[in-house]
Amino acid sequence: MHPAQDKDGGEGRVQNIIVADESAQIRLTFWNEDVDRIKDLQEGDVVSVTHAYAKEGFRGGVEVHLGRRAEIEINPKGSPLEQLDLSDLSVESRSQAAGLVRIREIDESNEGKSVEVSGIVMGATQASPVYPACPSCRKKVEEEGGRFTCSVCGDVKEPEYRMLYKITVDDGSGSIRATLFGETGEELLGMTAEEAHELITKSGNNLEPLERNSDRILGKYVSVRGRVSKFRDSMEIAASGLAFPDLVEVSKRERERIDELIR
Ligand SMILES: [Zn+2]
Repeated sequence: MHPAQDKDGGEGRVQNIIVADESAQIRLTFWNEDVDRIKDLQEGDVVSVTHAYAKEGFRGGVEVHLGRRAEIEINPKGSPLEQLDLSDLSVESRSQAAGLVRIREIDESNEGKSVEVSGIVMGATQASPVYPACPSCRKKVEEEGGRFTCSVCGDVKEPEYRMLYKITVDDGSGSIRATLFGETGEELLGMTAEEAHELITKSGNNLEPLERNSDRILGKYVSVRGRVSKFRDSMEIAASGLAFPDLVEVSKRERERIDELIR
């Protein structure tokens, strides 16, 4: 979790936090006395919330609100999320909101920071877009002779397939690779990780899900948000969000950007 903002309104108190698992992140909103229940929460703590409700966020997206019936548990025992490597997450709060940047401008000074780029998808990695993961701790499992082993949990009967692949995005100033995880990858590909896995099994071709959907992916105008990391000698983006912006909206933003520059 990440503290996002703390407001003291006349009506009551509200505290937003950002929670994430390895697939996505979401904003959690706590009201009034519930704010006290999370006051000792630290970044990296595991929060379990039940009986909460989802609501459309104020800038689009979904938020989770805690009503009266909500139960909050901090660092519940035996949570698989304790094993989660936080450095793999691309958590960002509104206070460090991503700014739209030119791909050419992304260099080592952006490492670890959140950015947003918009451009055309020029390609996707030539590898399987899914990997087998442990259903208990969600780590990648190793396969040997049809048997799957998790380095934490041992033998895994039935792995769970998760999506992970890279795309190359070009905005005219340059190109960058972006890693798409979980739902973000599924959205662009138009299929779930399970469906992609089935397609690979049936066709015997690791690339089948990407090849079959290449018309859908290549040439698509996307906006990618995420954290910049260095991979080998180049900068990449670990995507936390993917959008398919309206080109009219984009040119409007571009116009505003230019206005700001020449002011
Ligand atoms: Zn495991």
